[in-house]
Amino acid sequence: MKIPDCDRCTLYAHNPHLVCAVHPSGVETDKCLDFRPDPNAQIEEQWSPQGYSWYSDELIADRPSRYTPSEQLEILDTHPLFTGVCPQCRHEFNRDERIVHYDCPDCGWVDDSV
Ligand SMILES: [Zn+2]
Repeated sequence: MKIPDCDRCTLYAHNPHLVCAVHPSGVETDKCLDFRPDPNAQIEEQWSPQGYSWYSDELIADRPSRYTPSEQLEILDTHPLFTGVCPQCRHEFNRDERIVHYDCPDCGWVDDSV
């Protein structure tokens, strides 16, 4: 079977029918003796807004001490950075502009998460 290290190994065949030249059907252990780290393998980074990072498929604020996971989810649901509207009065921000601080011109809501 293919193991996670295969993705970063120079020997990995990138072929659905062949794991690699040395172990055509992969290895039975979770570590391969012939593992050779591929210096060119790049870890893809997903773009994320400043102050937020991707953790698996979730965009989470980079402040684990300040926000609990449920608060972070609330930010994702309510913050104009993600919704495009003011959480208080539903004022629509112009998403074509690069807005740094989402301060609402209508109701005075201020973005205190940045
Ligand atoms: Zn508002």
